[in-house]
Amino acid sequence: MTRIVLTADRAVFTDYHGFDFFGFGLCMPYRLVPKVVEYRLLAPKTPTDGLRAKYAPYALGKVEASLLASGFSREDVVVTPPHMIRKAIGEDTEIVGVHVLDPKGLAPVSWTLRSLSGGGKTCTELEFEKLMYEIKSLKEKYGFRVIVGGPGNWQLRGYEDEYGIDVLYDGECEVTFPLMVKRILDGEEVPRHIRGESAPADRIPLITTPSRNGLVQITIGCPRGCRFCNPTVRKFRSIPLDSVLKEIEFNLRNGVENISFVTEDVLLYGADGLRLNPDAVKKLFESSTSLAAKYGISRRVGFSHVSCASALVMRDVVEYISEIEGLSEDEPAFPQIGFESASPRIVSKYFRGKVRPYKPEDWPDVLIEASKLFNDAYWYPCYTYIVGFPDATADDYIATTELIDDLRGEGFIGWTFPLLLIPIGGSAIERKKEADFTYLLKLPEEAIDCIVAGWKLSVYNSRRLVGKLMKGNSLVSRVMLRLVFKAIDAMEEWIDGIKRGLEVVDDVYSRVDIRGNSGFVRALLR
Ligand code: SF4
Repeated sequence: MTRIVLTADRAVFTDYHGFDFFGFGLCMPYRLVPKVVEYRLLAPKTPTDGLRAKYAPYALGKVEASLLASGFSREDVVVTPPHMIRKAIGEDTEIVGVHVLDPKGLAPVSWTLRSLSGGGKTCTELEFEKLMYEIKSLKEKYGFRVIVGGPGNWQLRGYEDEYGIDVLYDGECEVTFPLMVKRILDGEEVPRHIRGESAPADRIPLITTPSRNGLVQITIGCPRGCRFCNPTVRKFRSIPLDSVLKEIEFNLRNGVENISFVTEDVLLYGADGLRLNPDAVKKLFESSTSLAAKYGISRRVGFSHVSCASALVMRDVVEYISEIEGLSEDEPAFPQIGFESASPRIVSKYFRGKVRPYKPEDWPDVLIEASKLFNDAYWYPCYTYIVGFPDATADDYIATTELIDDLRGEGFIGWTFPLLLIPIGGSAIERKKEADFTYLLKLPEEAIDCIVAGWKLSVYNSRRLVGKLMKGNSLVSRVMLRLVFKAIDAMEEWIDGIKRGLEVVDDVYSRVDIRGNSGFVRALLR
Protein backbone atom coordinates (compact mmCIF):
# COMPACT_ATOMS: atom_id res chain seq x y z
CA MET A 1 0.00 0.00 0.00
CA THR A 2 1.06 3.59 -0.66
CA ARG A 3 1.65 6.25 1.99
CA ILE A 4 0.14 9.14 0.02
CA VAL A 5 -2.98 8.70 -2.11
CA LEU A 6 -4.07 11.54 -4.42
CA THR A 7 -7.54 11.54 -5.94
CA ALA A 8 -10.60 13.60 -6.94
CA ASP A 9 -14.29 12.88 -7.37
CA ARG A 10 -15.81 11.44 -10.55
CA ALA A 11 -16.91 14.88 -11.85
CA VAL A 12 -13.25 15.98 -11.82
CA PHE A 13 -11.35 12.74 -12.40
CA THR A 14 -12.62 11.85 -15.90
CA ASP A 15 -11.71 12.79 -19.46
CA TYR A 16 -15.31 13.84 -20.35
CA HIS A 17 -14.96 11.55 -23.36
CA GLY A 18 -12.42 13.98 -24.79
CA PHE A 19 -14.84 16.93 -24.73
CA ASP A 20 -13.79 19.13 -21.80
CA PHE A 21 -16.92 21.25 -22.17
CA PHE A 22 -19.01 18.20 -21.10
CA GLY A 23 -17.84 19.17 -17.62
CA PHE A 24 -20.42 21.97 -17.71
CA GLY A 25 -23.17 19.31 -17.97
CA LEU A 26 -22.12 18.15 -14.51
CA CYS A 27 -22.88 21.61 -13.14
CA MET A 28 -26.62 20.85 -13.60
CA PRO A 29 -28.75 19.63 -10.69
CA TYR A 30 -28.37 15.86 -10.77
CA ARG A 31 -32.13 15.34 -11.02
CA LEU A 32 -31.82 16.76 -14.57
CA VAL A 33 -28.94 14.50 -15.60
CA PRO A 34 -29.94 10.88 -16.19
CA LYS A 35 -27.53 8.41 -14.56
CA VAL A 36 -26.75 6.81 -17.88
CA VAL A 37 -25.82 10.20 -19.37
CA GLU A 38 -23.63 11.15 -16.41
CA TYR A 39 -21.71 7.91 -16.02
CA ARG A 40 -21.58 6.63 -19.60
CA LEU A 41 -21.25 9.86 -21.53
CA LEU A 42 -20.28 12.92 -19.51
CA ALA A 43 -17.97 11.40 -16.92
CA PRO A 44 -16.65 7.98 -17.90
CA LYS A 45 -14.35 6.10 -15.50
CA THR A 46 -10.64 6.78 -15.84
CA PRO A 47 -8.66 3.65 -16.79
CA THR A 48 -5.81 2.52 -14.54
CA ASP A 49 -2.60 0.59 -14.70
CA GLY A 50 -2.83 -1.31 -11.41
CA LEU A 51 -3.79 1.42 -8.98
CA ARG A 52 -2.30 4.27 -11.00
CA ALA A 53 -4.52 6.37 -13.25
CA LYS A 54 -3.42 6.26 -16.91
CA TYR A 55 -4.06 9.99 -17.04
CA ALA A 56 -5.04 12.49 -14.36
CA PRO A 57 -6.44 15.98 -13.90
CA TYR A 58 -3.47 18.28 -14.56
CA ALA A 59 -3.47 19.75 -11.03
CA LEU A 60 -3.17 16.33 -9.38
CA GLY A 61 -0.26 15.53 -11.69
CA LYS A 62 1.43 18.72 -10.47
CA VAL A 63 0.91 17.75 -6.81
CA GLU A 64 2.42 14.34 -7.50
CA ALA A 65 5.37 15.94 -9.36
CA SER A 66 6.00 18.34 -6.46
CA LEU A 67 6.15 15.47 -3.98
CA LEU A 68 8.52 13.47 -6.18
CA ALA A 69 10.75 16.52 -6.74
CA SER A 70 11.03 17.04 -2.99
CA GLY A 71 12.35 13.56 -2.31
CA PHE A 72 9.36 11.20 -2.10
CA SER A 73 9.71 8.02 -4.14
CA ARG A 74 7.31 6.79 -6.81
CA GLU A 75 6.25 4.01 -4.39
CA ASP A 76 5.26 6.61 -1.78
CA VAL A 77 2.68 8.37 -3.96
CA VAL A 78 -0.19 7.17 -6.15
CA VAL A 79 -2.67 9.17 -8.22
CA THR A 80 -5.79 7.08 -8.47
CA PRO A 81 -9.37 7.66 -9.66
CA PRO A 82 -12.26 7.53 -7.18
CA HIS A 83 -13.46 4.05 -8.13
CA MET A 84 -10.07 2.65 -7.00
CA ILE A 85 -9.71 4.29 -3.61
CA ARG A 86 -10.91 1.27 -1.60
CA LYS A 87 -8.07 -0.69 -3.15
CA ALA A 88 -5.52 2.12 -2.94
CA ILE A 89 -6.12 3.04 0.70
CA GLY A 90 -4.99 0.68 3.45
CA GLU A 91 -3.06 0.36 6.67
CA ASP A 92 0.04 2.05 5.24
CA THR A 93 -1.86 5.09 4.03
CA GLU A 94 -0.91 8.20 5.98
CA ILE A 95 -2.30 10.98 3.81
CA VAL A 96 -5.16 11.23 1.30
CA GLY A 97 -5.15 14.35 -0.88
CA VAL A 98 -8.34 15.38 -2.69
CA HIS A 99 -8.45 17.92 -5.52
CA VAL A 100 -11.68 19.97 -5.73
CA LEU A 101 -13.23 22.26 -8.36
CA ASP A 102 -16.85 22.77 -7.39
CA PRO A 103 -17.57 20.62 -4.32
CA LYS A 104 -20.75 22.39 -3.18
CA GLY A 105 -22.09 23.42 -6.59
CA LEU A 106 -21.44 27.11 -5.93
CA ALA A 107 -19.20 28.00 -8.89
CA PRO A 108 -20.75 30.57 -11.28
CA VAL A 109 -21.95 28.07 -13.92
CA SER A 110 -23.43 25.71 -11.30
CA TRP A 111 -25.09 28.52 -9.34
CA THR A 112 -26.62 29.93 -12.53
CA LEU A 113 -27.90 26.59 -13.84
CA ARG A 114 -29.33 25.71 -10.43
CA SER A 115 -31.06 29.07 -10.14
CA LEU A 116 -32.57 28.90 -13.62
CA SER A 117 -33.73 25.32 -13.27
CA GLY A 118 -35.32 25.42 -9.83
CA GLY A 119 -32.45 24.29 -7.57
CA GLY A 120 -31.14 21.02 -6.24
CA LYS A 121 -27.78 19.42 -5.63
CA THR A 122 -25.51 19.48 -8.68
CA CYS A 123 -23.71 16.42 -10.06
CA THR A 124 -20.46 18.07 -8.91
CA GLU A 125 -21.66 18.19 -5.29
CA LEU A 126 -23.19 14.72 -5.46
CA GLU A 127 -19.91 13.19 -6.66
CA PHE A 128 -17.83 15.13 -4.15
CA GLU A 129 -20.00 13.95 -1.26
CA LYS A 130 -19.94 10.34 -2.43
CA LEU A 131 -16.15 10.40 -2.50
CA MET A 132 -15.73 12.21 0.82
CA TYR A 133 -18.13 9.96 2.74
CA GLU A 134 -16.25 6.94 1.42
CA ILE A 135 -12.90 8.46 2.43
CA LYS A 136 -14.32 9.40 5.83
CA SER A 137 -15.36 5.81 6.52
CA LEU A 138 -11.92 4.55 5.48
CA LYS A 139 -10.34 7.22 7.69
CA GLU A 140 -12.22 5.87 10.72
CA LYS A 141 -10.68 2.48 10.02
CA TYR A 142 -7.10 3.51 9.13
CA GLY A 143 -6.61 6.89 10.79
CA PHE A 144 -4.89 8.80 7.94
CA ARG A 145 -5.06 12.58 7.41
CA VAL A 146 -7.21 14.18 4.72
CA ILE A 147 -5.97 17.26 2.83
CA VAL A 148 -8.29 19.00 0.37
CA GLY A 149 -7.07 21.59 -2.13
CA GLY A 150 -7.95 23.22 -5.43
CA PRO A 151 -9.89 26.14 -6.89
CA GLY A 152 -13.14 25.03 -5.21
CA ASN A 153 -11.65 24.98 -1.70
CA TRP A 154 -13.35 28.18 -0.64
CA GLN A 155 -16.73 26.40 -0.85
CA LEU A 156 -15.71 24.04 1.97
CA ARG A 157 -14.98 26.51 4.76
CA GLY A 158 -17.15 25.43 7.69
CA TYR A 159 -17.70 21.91 6.31
CA GLU A 160 -14.35 20.46 7.48
CA ASP A 161 -15.85 18.21 10.20
CA GLU A 162 -18.76 17.02 8.08
CA TYR A 163 -16.40 15.67 5.44
CA GLY A 164 -13.54 14.63 7.75
CA ILE A 165 -11.12 17.22 6.33
CA ASP A 166 -7.96 17.87 8.38
CA VAL A 167 -6.40 20.55 6.16
CA LEU A 168 -7.91 22.89 3.58
CA TYR A 169 -4.96 23.80 1.37
CA ASP A 170 -5.17 26.95 -0.79
CA GLY A 171 -2.71 28.32 -3.30
CA GLU A 172 0.11 26.66 -5.20
CA CYS A 173 1.53 23.26 -4.35
CA GLU A 174 5.21 23.31 -5.36
CA VAL A 175 6.86 24.86 -2.30
CA THR A 176 4.57 24.47 0.70
CA PHE A 177 2.67 21.24 0.02
CA PRO A 178 5.63 18.82 0.28
CA LEU A 179 6.87 20.59 3.45
CA MET A 180 3.43 20.26 5.01
CA VAL A 181 3.24 16.57 4.07
CA LYS A 182 6.66 15.93 5.66
CA ARG A 183 5.54 17.65 8.86
CA ILE A 184 2.41 15.53 9.02
CA LEU A 185 4.40 12.34 8.41
CA ASP A 186 6.77 13.39 11.22
CA GLY A 187 3.80 13.51 13.55
CA GLU A 188 3.62 17.30 13.81
CA GLU A 189 0.37 19.22 14.04
CA VAL A 190 -0.32 21.58 11.12
CA PRO A 191 -2.90 24.38 10.87
CA ARG A 192 -6.32 23.56 9.47
CA HIS A 193 -6.07 26.24 6.78
CA ILE A 194 -2.82 26.55 4.86
CA ARG A 195 -1.90 28.81 1.94
CA GLY A 196 0.84 27.60 -0.42
CA GLU A 197 3.60 29.95 -1.58
CA SER A 198 4.27 30.60 -5.28
CA ALA A 199 7.29 29.00 -6.91
CA PRO A 200 9.36 30.71 -9.63
CA ALA A 201 8.01 29.51 -12.99
CA ASP A 202 11.28 27.81 -13.93
CA ARG A 203 11.29 25.75 -10.74
CA ILE A 204 7.90 24.13 -11.16
CA PRO A 205 8.42 20.37 -11.56
CA LEU A 206 7.05 18.70 -14.69
CA ILE A 207 4.18 16.20 -14.56
CA THR A 208 5.01 12.51 -14.34
CA THR A 209 1.47 11.19 -14.97
CA PRO A 210 0.00 12.10 -18.39
CA SER A 211 -2.63 14.80 -18.13
CA ARG A 212 -6.25 14.30 -19.10
CA ASN A 213 -6.96 15.51 -22.63
CA GLY A 214 -3.38 16.77 -22.97
CA LEU A 215 -3.80 19.81 -20.73
CA VAL A 216 -0.58 21.73 -20.15
CA GLN A 217 -0.37 24.98 -18.21
CA ILE A 218 1.28 27.91 -20.00
CA THR A 219 0.50 30.82 -17.67
CA ILE A 220 -0.40 31.14 -13.99
CA GLY A 221 -2.56 33.95 -12.63
CA CYS A 222 -3.72 37.03 -14.51
CA PRO A 223 -2.54 40.66 -14.28
CA ARG A 224 -5.91 42.23 -15.20
CA GLY A 225 -7.26 42.41 -11.62
CA CYS A 226 -11.04 42.01 -12.08
CA ARG A 227 -12.75 42.37 -8.71
CA PHE A 228 -14.96 39.27 -9.04
CA CYS A 229 -12.13 36.91 -10.02
CA ASN A 230 -9.73 34.75 -7.99
CA PRO A 231 -7.04 33.58 -10.49
CA THR A 232 -5.99 37.23 -10.56
CA VAL A 233 -4.94 36.96 -6.92
CA ARG A 234 -2.06 34.70 -8.00
CA LYS A 235 1.17 36.24 -9.22
CA PHE A 236 1.15 36.31 -13.03
CA ARG A 237 3.87 34.16 -14.64
CA SER A 238 4.42 32.39 -17.95
CA ILE A 239 5.83 28.87 -17.89
CA PRO A 240 9.12 28.70 -19.83
CA LEU A 241 8.63 27.33 -23.36
CA ASP A 242 11.08 24.51 -22.73
CA SER A 243 8.96 23.21 -19.81
CA VAL A 244 5.72 23.55 -21.81
CA LEU A 245 7.20 21.55 -24.69
CA LYS A 246 8.60 18.87 -22.38
CA GLU A 247 5.17 18.31 -20.81
CA ILE A 248 3.50 18.19 -24.24
CA GLU A 249 6.05 15.66 -25.45
CA PHE A 250 5.68 13.60 -22.27
CA ASN A 251 1.93 13.38 -22.90
CA LEU A 252 2.33 12.52 -26.58
CA ARG A 253 4.92 9.82 -25.84
CA ASN A 254 2.48 8.30 -23.38
CA GLY A 255 -0.40 7.97 -25.80
CA VAL A 256 -2.31 11.23 -25.17
CA GLU A 257 -3.49 12.54 -28.54
CA ASN A 258 -4.36 16.12 -27.57
CA ILE A 259 -2.52 19.31 -26.75
CA SER A 260 -4.52 21.86 -24.84
CA PHE A 261 -3.20 24.98 -23.10
CA VAL A 262 -4.40 25.93 -19.62
CA THR A 263 -4.36 29.72 -19.28
CA GLU A 264 -6.51 32.70 -18.38
CA ASP A 265 -5.52 34.35 -21.69
CA VAL A 266 -3.44 32.54 -24.29
CA LEU A 267 -2.40 35.89 -25.80
CA LEU A 268 -0.77 36.91 -22.50
CA TYR A 269 1.83 34.16 -22.89
CA GLY A 270 5.30 35.67 -22.33
CA ALA A 271 3.85 39.09 -21.45
CA ASP A 272 5.44 41.40 -18.92
CA GLY A 273 2.31 42.31 -16.95
CA LEU A 274 0.03 43.75 -19.64
CA ARG A 275 2.89 44.45 -22.06
CA LEU A 276 2.08 41.77 -24.65
CA ASN A 277 4.72 39.64 -26.33
CA PRO A 278 3.54 38.60 -29.81
CA ASP A 279 6.77 36.75 -30.61
CA ALA A 280 6.45 34.54 -27.54
CA VAL A 281 2.88 33.59 -28.47
CA LYS A 282 3.85 32.82 -32.07
CA LYS A 283 6.82 30.73 -30.93
CA LEU A 284 4.57 28.82 -28.53
CA PHE A 285 2.16 27.85 -31.30
CA GLU A 286 4.88 27.20 -33.84
CA SER A 287 6.77 24.82 -31.51
CA SER A 288 3.65 23.03 -30.29
CA THR A 289 2.20 22.46 -33.75
CA SER A 290 5.54 21.07 -34.95
CA LEU A 291 5.60 18.69 -31.98
CA ALA A 292 2.05 17.61 -32.84
CA ALA A 293 3.16 16.97 -36.44
CA LYS A 294 6.20 14.98 -35.25
CA TYR A 295 3.90 12.64 -33.31
CA GLY A 296 1.33 12.43 -36.12
CA ILE A 297 -1.36 14.24 -34.11
CA SER A 298 -3.95 15.67 -36.46
CA ARG A 299 -5.99 17.55 -33.83
CA ARG A 300 -5.26 21.23 -33.49
CA VAL A 301 -3.66 22.73 -30.37
CA GLY A 302 -6.51 23.80 -28.08
CA PHE A 303 -6.63 26.67 -25.62
CA SER A 304 -9.22 27.56 -23.06
CA HIS A 305 -9.35 31.33 -22.54
CA VAL A 306 -8.46 34.53 -24.34
CA SER A 307 -9.37 38.20 -23.91
CA CYS A 308 -10.92 40.58 -26.43
CA ALA A 309 -8.54 43.43 -25.58
CA SER A 310 -5.40 41.31 -26.14
CA ALA A 311 -6.87 40.02 -29.40
CA LEU A 312 -7.53 43.49 -30.82
CA VAL A 313 -4.05 44.66 -29.86
CA MET A 314 -2.49 41.61 -31.53
CA ARG A 315 -4.73 41.08 -34.54
CA ASP A 316 -1.84 39.61 -36.50
CA VAL A 317 -1.23 36.97 -33.81
CA VAL A 318 -4.89 35.87 -33.90
CA GLU A 319 -4.56 35.50 -37.67
CA TYR A 320 -1.20 33.74 -37.31
CA ILE A 321 -2.66 31.18 -34.87
CA SER A 322 -5.54 30.46 -37.24
CA GLU A 323 -3.18 29.98 -40.12
CA ILE A 324 -0.67 27.75 -38.36
CA GLU A 325 -3.48 25.68 -36.87
CA GLY A 326 -5.26 25.38 -40.21
CA LEU A 327 -8.55 26.68 -38.80
CA SER A 328 -11.52 26.84 -41.17
CA GLU A 329 -15.30 26.96 -41.10
CA ASP A 330 -15.30 23.20 -40.56
CA GLU A 331 -12.39 23.24 -38.09
CA PRO A 332 -13.00 26.30 -35.91
CA ALA A 333 -11.67 27.10 -32.43
CA PHE A 334 -14.04 27.66 -29.48
CA PRO A 335 -12.31 29.91 -26.90
CA GLN A 336 -14.01 30.91 -23.66
CA ILE A 337 -14.16 34.66 -23.07
CA GLY A 338 -15.77 36.70 -20.31
CA PHE A 339 -17.04 40.05 -21.59
CA GLU A 340 -18.95 40.57 -18.30
CA SER A 341 -20.98 43.69 -19.17
CA ALA A 342 -21.28 46.28 -21.93
CA SER A 343 -21.90 49.11 -19.48
CA PRO A 344 -18.86 51.43 -19.21
CA ARG A 345 -19.94 52.30 -15.65
CA ILE A 346 -19.74 48.64 -14.59
CA VAL A 347 -16.46 48.24 -16.49
CA SER A 348 -14.89 51.14 -14.57
CA LYS A 349 -16.04 49.84 -11.25
CA TYR A 350 -15.44 46.09 -11.50
CA PHE A 351 -13.09 45.19 -14.34
CA ARG A 352 -11.13 48.19 -15.56
CA GLY A 353 -8.01 46.06 -16.15
CA LYS A 354 -9.77 43.63 -18.48
CA VAL A 355 -10.30 46.26 -21.16
CA ARG A 356 -6.78 47.80 -21.10
CA PRO A 357 -5.30 49.41 -23.19
CA TYR A 358 -8.80 50.55 -24.20
CA LYS A 359 -11.07 52.82 -22.16
CA PRO A 360 -14.26 51.66 -20.43
CA GLU A 361 -16.40 53.71 -22.83
CA ASP A 362 -14.76 51.92 -25.79
CA TRP A 363 -15.68 48.47 -24.47
CA PRO A 364 -18.87 47.84 -26.49
CA ASP A 365 -17.03 48.75 -29.72
CA VAL A 366 -14.04 46.63 -28.70
CA LEU A 367 -16.39 43.67 -28.23
CA ILE A 368 -17.99 44.09 -31.64
CA GLU A 369 -14.62 44.55 -33.37
CA ALA A 370 -13.03 41.62 -31.55
CA SER A 371 -16.01 39.41 -32.40
CA LYS A 372 -15.59 40.21 -36.11
CA LEU A 373 -11.87 39.50 -35.87
CA PHE A 374 -12.52 36.17 -34.12
CA ASN A 375 -15.18 35.03 -36.54
CA ASP A 376 -13.08 36.01 -39.58
CA ALA A 377 -10.28 33.89 -38.12
CA TYR A 378 -12.72 30.98 -37.43
CA TRP A 379 -12.71 31.50 -33.68
CA TYR A 380 -16.28 31.00 -32.43
CA PRO A 381 -16.22 32.33 -28.86
CA CYS A 382 -18.18 31.11 -25.92
CA TYR A 383 -18.81 34.50 -24.28
CA THR A 384 -20.03 34.79 -20.72
CA TYR A 385 -21.36 37.93 -19.04
CA ILE A 386 -22.35 38.70 -15.48
CA VAL A 387 -25.81 39.52 -14.15
CA GLY A 388 -26.11 40.75 -10.56
CA PHE A 389 -23.35 43.32 -9.97
CA PRO A 390 -24.49 44.78 -6.62
CA ASP A 391 -25.38 48.24 -7.88
CA ALA A 392 -26.29 47.42 -11.50
CA THR A 393 -29.10 49.62 -12.80
CA ALA A 394 -31.70 49.03 -15.50
CA ASP A 395 -29.51 51.05 -17.89
CA ASP A 396 -26.51 48.81 -17.24
CA TYR A 397 -28.55 45.72 -18.18
CA ILE A 398 -30.03 47.44 -21.22
CA ALA A 399 -26.48 48.26 -22.44
CA THR A 400 -25.58 44.56 -22.35
CA THR A 401 -28.86 43.50 -24.00
CA GLU A 402 -28.22 46.02 -26.78
CA LEU A 403 -24.73 44.67 -27.28
CA ILE A 404 -26.14 41.13 -27.64
CA ASP A 405 -28.67 42.43 -30.17
CA ASP A 406 -25.86 44.16 -32.07
CA LEU A 407 -23.82 40.95 -32.11
CA ARG A 408 -26.81 39.11 -33.55
CA GLY A 409 -27.24 41.87 -36.13
CA GLU A 410 -23.60 41.51 -37.16
CA GLY A 411 -24.10 37.77 -37.73
CA PHE A 412 -21.90 36.81 -34.74
CA ILE A 413 -21.10 33.10 -34.56
CA GLY A 414 -20.62 31.90 -31.00
CA TRP A 415 -22.41 31.84 -27.66
CA THR A 416 -23.45 34.47 -25.12
CA PHE A 417 -24.14 32.87 -21.75
CA PRO A 418 -25.25 34.88 -18.71
CA LEU A 419 -23.74 33.98 -15.34
CA LEU A 420 -25.17 35.15 -12.04
CA LEU A 421 -22.63 36.99 -9.91
CA ILE A 422 -21.29 35.06 -6.95
CA PRO A 423 -18.65 36.16 -4.42
CA ILE A 424 -15.93 33.69 -5.41
CA GLY A 425 -13.62 32.95 -2.48
CA GLY A 426 -10.49 35.09 -2.54
CA SER A 427 -11.86 37.64 -5.03
CA ALA A 428 -11.87 41.34 -4.08
CA ILE A 429 -15.68 41.49 -3.83
CA GLU A 430 -15.66 38.50 -1.47
CA ARG A 431 -12.84 39.79 0.72
CA LYS A 432 -14.44 43.22 1.02
CA LYS A 433 -17.93 41.73 1.37
CA GLU A 434 -19.20 43.84 -1.52
CA ALA A 435 -21.55 41.23 -2.99
CA ASP A 436 -23.72 38.27 -2.07
CA PHE A 437 -24.95 35.39 -4.25
CA THR A 438 -27.37 36.63 -6.90
CA TYR A 439 -30.97 35.40 -6.65
CA LEU A 440 -33.19 35.44 -9.72
CA LEU A 441 -36.25 36.69 -7.88
CA LYS A 442 -34.41 39.78 -6.66
CA LEU A 443 -33.39 40.86 -10.17
CA PRO A 444 -35.19 43.67 -12.05
CA GLU A 445 -37.09 42.96 -15.25
CA GLU A 446 -34.27 44.40 -17.40
CA ALA A 447 -31.87 41.84 -15.92
CA ILE A 448 -34.21 38.99 -16.86
CA ASP A 449 -34.49 40.41 -20.39
CA CYS A 450 -30.70 40.52 -20.51
CA ILE A 451 -30.50 36.84 -19.44
CA VAL A 452 -33.11 35.82 -22.01
CA ALA A 453 -31.36 37.72 -24.84
CA GLY A 454 -28.06 35.90 -24.24
CA TRP A 455 -29.66 32.47 -24.00
CA LYS A 456 -31.73 33.05 -27.14
CA LEU A 457 -28.66 33.94 -29.19
CA SER A 458 -26.86 30.94 -27.72
CA VAL A 459 -29.68 28.59 -28.66
CA TYR A 460 -29.80 30.02 -32.17
CA ASN A 461 -26.06 29.56 -32.68
CA SER A 462 -25.95 26.18 -30.92
CA ARG A 463 -28.07 24.69 -33.69
CA ARG A 464 -25.50 25.99 -36.21
CA LEU A 465 -22.41 24.98 -34.28
CA VAL A 466 -23.00 21.81 -32.38
CA GLY A 467 -22.06 19.55 -35.30
CA LYS A 468 -18.67 21.29 -35.56
CA LEU A 469 -18.10 21.11 -31.83
CA MET A 470 -18.80 17.40 -31.49
CA LYS A 471 -17.05 15.77 -34.37
CA GLY A 472 -16.48 12.08 -34.66
CA ASN A 473 -18.33 9.09 -35.87
CA SER A 474 -18.12 6.98 -32.75
CA LEU A 475 -21.32 5.72 -31.20
CA VAL A 476 -20.74 8.02 -28.22
CA SER A 477 -20.37 11.08 -30.48
CA ARG A 478 -23.52 10.22 -32.42
CA VAL A 479 -25.59 9.54 -29.30
CA MET A 480 -24.31 12.71 -27.67
CA LEU A 481 -25.12 14.75 -30.74
CA ARG A 482 -28.74 13.55 -30.69
CA LEU A 483 -29.01 14.25 -26.99
CA VAL A 484 -27.50 17.70 -27.38
CA PHE A 485 -30.07 18.59 -30.06
CA LYS A 486 -32.81 17.41 -27.68
CA ALA A 487 -31.26 19.51 -24.94
CA ILE A 488 -31.20 22.58 -27.20
CA ASP A 489 -34.93 22.16 -27.90
CA ALA A 490 -35.59 21.80 -24.18
CA MET A 491 -33.46 24.88 -23.48
CA GLU A 492 -35.48 26.95 -25.90
CA GLU A 493 -38.75 25.98 -24.20
CA TRP A 494 -37.17 26.62 -20.83
CA ILE A 495 -36.10 30.16 -21.75
CA ASP A 496 -39.48 30.95 -23.28
CA GLY A 497 -41.04 29.89 -19.98
CA ILE A 498 -38.75 32.19 -17.98
CA LYS A 499 -39.53 35.05 -20.32
CA ARG A 500 -43.26 34.62 -19.59
CA GLY A 501 -42.74 34.75 -15.81
CA LEU A 502 -40.27 33.56 -13.16
CA GLU A 503 -42.97 31.57 -11.27
CA VAL A 504 -42.35 28.78 -13.78
CA VAL A 505 -38.98 28.09 -12.15
CA ASP A 506 -40.51 27.07 -8.81
CA ASP A 507 -43.87 25.84 -10.07
CA VAL A 508 -42.63 23.66 -12.92
CA TYR A 509 -38.87 23.42 -13.44
CA SER A 510 -38.06 22.56 -9.82
CA ARG A 511 -40.26 19.44 -10.11
CA VAL A 512 -38.65 17.92 -13.18
CA ASP A 513 -36.70 14.75 -12.41
CA ILE A 514 -35.24 12.62 -15.19
CA ARG A 515 -32.43 11.04 -13.17
CA GLY A 516 -33.92 7.53 -13.39
CA ASN A 517 -34.34 5.55 -16.60
CA SER A 518 -38.13 5.94 -16.80
CA GLY A 519 -38.04 9.73 -16.41
CA PHE A 520 -35.30 9.93 -19.02
CA VAL A 521 -37.18 7.81 -21.55
CA ARG A 522 -40.37 9.86 -20.99
CA ALA A 523 -38.39 13.09 -21.55
CA LEU A 524 -36.89 11.71 -24.76
CA LEU A 525 -40.26 10.60 -26.09
CA ARG A 526 -41.75 14.02 -25.31
S1 SF4 B 1 -9.31 38.93 -17.26
FE1 SF4 B 1 -10.28 37.02 -16.60
S2 SF4 B 1 -8.75 35.88 -15.45
FE2 SF4 B 1 -8.03 38.01 -15.65
S3 SF4 B 1 -8.70 38.98 -13.78
FE3 SF4 B 1 -10.28 39.33 -15.30
S4 SF4 B 1 -11.77 37.64 -15.04
FE4 SF4 B 1 -9.87 37.09 -13.97
